[in-house]
Amino acid sequence: MNRIALGLTLAAAPIVIAAQAPALTPAVTPYVTVAEPVVALTNVRVIDGTGAPAVEGRTIVIQNGRIASVSPASSAKVPAGARVIDLAGHTVIPGLVGMHNHTFYTTRGRSVQLQFSAPRLYLGSGVTTIRTTGGTSPYHEINMKRAIDRGEIPGPRMHLTGPYLTGPGGAATMAQVGTAEEAQRIVNYWADEGVTWFKAYTDISREALGAAIKAAHARGLKFTGHLCSVSFREAVALGIDNLEHGLFTNSDYVPNRTPDRCPDMRASLLKVDLEGPEVKQTISDMVTHKVALSSTLAVYELSFPDRPPLEDRVLDALAPEAREEYLTTRKQTSARAAQSTMPELFRRAQTFERLFVRAGGLLGAGVDPTGMGGALPGYGDQRNYELLLEADFTPTEVIQIMTLNGARILGVDKDLGSIAPGKIADLVVIRGNPVATPGDIRNVTIVFKDGIGYDSPRLLASVKGVVGIR
Ligand SMILES: [Zn+2]
Repeated sequence: MNRIALGLTLAAAPIVIAAQAPALTPAVTPYVTVAEPVVALTNVRVIDGTGAPAVEGRTIVIQNGRIASVSPASSAKVPAGARVIDLAGHTVIPGLVGMHNHTFYTTRGRSVQLQFSAPRLYLGSGVTTIRTTGGTSPYHEINMKRAIDRGEIPGPRMHLTGPYLTGPGGAATMAQVGTAEEAQRIVNYWADEGVTWFKAYTDISREALGAAIKAAHARGLKFTGHLCSVSFREAVALGIDNLEHGLFTNSDYVPNRTPDRCPDMRASLLKVDLEGPEVKQTISDMVTHKVALSSTLAVYELSFPDRPPLEDRVLDALAPEAREEYLTTRKQTSARAAQSTMPELFRRAQTFERLFVRAGGLLGAGVDPTGMGGALPGYGDQRNYELLLEADFTPTEVIQIMTLNGARILGVDKDLGSIAPGKIADLVVIRGNPVATPGDIRNVTIVFKDGIGYDSPRLLASVKGVVGIR
């Protein structure tokens, strides 16, 4: 790849994006397979991310990092000098927008910042935009974003979230916030450092959460939460923008709840009538106040006995110790299958997400590569595709949830999230047809970010055996 020639071409283009497109450094160029400024993808099936049905036999022209046109072969105008890539038998979808996409990873007992492997796994799996949604090492993420934006390492666009805000006595990696003043101080500090989202965690008080949300909004920034001590409806009333994990973290239905305390909510979630007035109230509060919901089914599925189907690529990507830890916990989960309430709770969570969308709610999705350690960055996002199909969304609805809806939540849908002329060329090329064969979502061949095509198999091969270490 001739980096200087590419830079000159972009500099000459009369399009604003040229200023943002990274110059490619020698660390990145081995993963780049398409770097020409004008590219035509021909004979391809397109799922555009808006929920519209798939269309066949399209030509997508990419020019200087943007989508110039999407047209049937009969009317396609391929510019002279374009690199033409015949994609017969392939499907193109927008780059995935991951709404709960940490760059750290956990098993039971292990928590590791994946500075090397997370950005490669995300990009290689077709996730071109991530929100980090709670950092355990925020400066690792700030510097990762800078390195990606400068073209020094391959990776997705990053929307940085600050450290988690929880209550006194909460998790050791988090800011333990006791008062409104502390909440404001912490939010303002990280806002100065460049984060654009904040996330509250299970033990925060209503007072601290309310103050933190206010401070974030005063800076034009947004707030999400993995809640427990504060219920969904309470958080909506406090002005939160997004709620993580869907039904699993909703304490609205716990009878005689002590305010500001995190209750055991499982029994209430197994009991509540999903078609009843309490659930309707939660959903209507969220829809009325435009509070988005993030689906993270792939991480919760790990607690579902004997699921997900084991994938060789997951086991191969894991470092031996992390693989052992995941498989051990998986075995323990299977051994308790007879007593497990997870199958029922999981189905309920899927139903809640469907009811939320049918009521007009904005649902995004992300992997959350934590918990027992079997949902890897990118691979778990692809698994979400199948789990949302299982929740009874149509294939094009699921693609919309995973692309345009995420872009809307992030406020970047003018430029990203769907395949349309004028938008940034973030595209995933898939061998096969994920509408007919859901598993094809894994057959990513090329991932375009800013119109530059990355070799997916090469990116994924580069992290073999290291996930869980680096
Ligand atoms: Zn999380």
